Amino acid sequence: MSGIIFKRARHYRTVDGRHICGLCPHGCRIAPGSRGICGTRLGAEKVLLADNYAKVVAMNIDPMEKKPLYHFRPGELVMSVGGYGCNMDCLHCQNHSLSTVRDGDGRHRTVPPHELVAICRSEGVRNLAFTYNEPTIWHEYMMDIHMVAEGLDLIYVSNGYISPEPRKEVLERIAAMNLDVKGFSEEFYHKVTGSQLAPVLETAEDCLSAGVHLELTYLLIPDLNDDETQLNGFCQWVSDVLGADVPVHFSAYHRDHRLCEGRDTSAADLLRAKKMAAEAGLRYVYLGNLPISEGQDTVCQSCGAVVVTRTGYKTDSKGLDGDSCAACGDSVNMRV
Ligand code: SF4
Repeated sequence: MSGIIFKRARHYRTVDGRHICGLCPHGCRIAPGSRGICGTRLGAEKVLLADNYAKVVAMNIDPMEKKPLYHFRPGELVMSVGGYGCNMDCLHCQNHSLSTVRDGDGRHRTVPPHELVAICRSEGVRNLAFTYNEPTIWHEYMMDIHMVAEGLDLIYVSNGYISPEPRKEVLERIAAMNLDVKGFSEEFYHKVTGSQLAPVLETAEDCLSAGVHLELTYLLIPDLNDDETQLNGFCQWVSDVLGADVPVHFSAYHRDHRLCEGRDTSAADLLRAKKMAAEAGLRYVYLGNLPISEGQDTVCQSCGAVVVTRTGYKTDSKGLDGDSCAACGDSVNMRV
């Protein structure tokens, strides 16, 4: 593996000696020697640096279902990589051992783009996911990987908190995204994540406009984002704005990081959310992070046939014929 790589940040401008980062809606003003909120943009005298460039903390081959993506190449393997830092500050972060690291902490190894692509090829995978921490703040790394990644499809598992110009660059280069919608009010986003909801919703809409396969994850936190107003609002927004075919994953939360009060999500909470989603007309709703038999399989909404069966991360796609239901031939919004 290679040594340190200095990379200039792609989106910023400099005013009165401070660098104003344009990568996400925080728009941090960064003085030389300081870092932005995410910890990964470092001010130098003349330029803003992407200090996390090519610094990989986690690398694993996962089932696609683990991202979770249930309607994108079911049963395939995906090379999954993550770095450190995050541009949100969620009280309940379920992955804080990576997200709260602010300078690499000596836990990373440097993997230049061509080396990462070579690893994917040697492992025989055609999918590369940026996951574990927020890929928005690895923007320069993703852009350079894309330049040498012919034959590899890039996937984002993201909080969607990205500014319009870099968002467009991402959506022109990736094949699929699992987007976290963390709640459905600006108040929740402000208090619990330190960010805003509106840009996240814009990312989802832009994803579909760009032809990128989209699935959504909503981590259910009892008494914080599972009230009727937020859940109904979320389900109606998916149905009305994105379309009822967009897969939704309701996921169970456990108390962690700085959110120790309250209780963990129960199976009953997940089932209640699924029922509300069904009432809003959503067609593909899945339940995760708890051992629960309901909400795992993909069912054809036209004829009722089970097209994909899932047991844990084991997938049986015999009910699929190409990307359609083998029984009736109808679309199940699947990309294979
Ligand atoms: S990417 Fe980081 S430095 Fe840039 S605006 Fe967002 S939080 Fe601030």
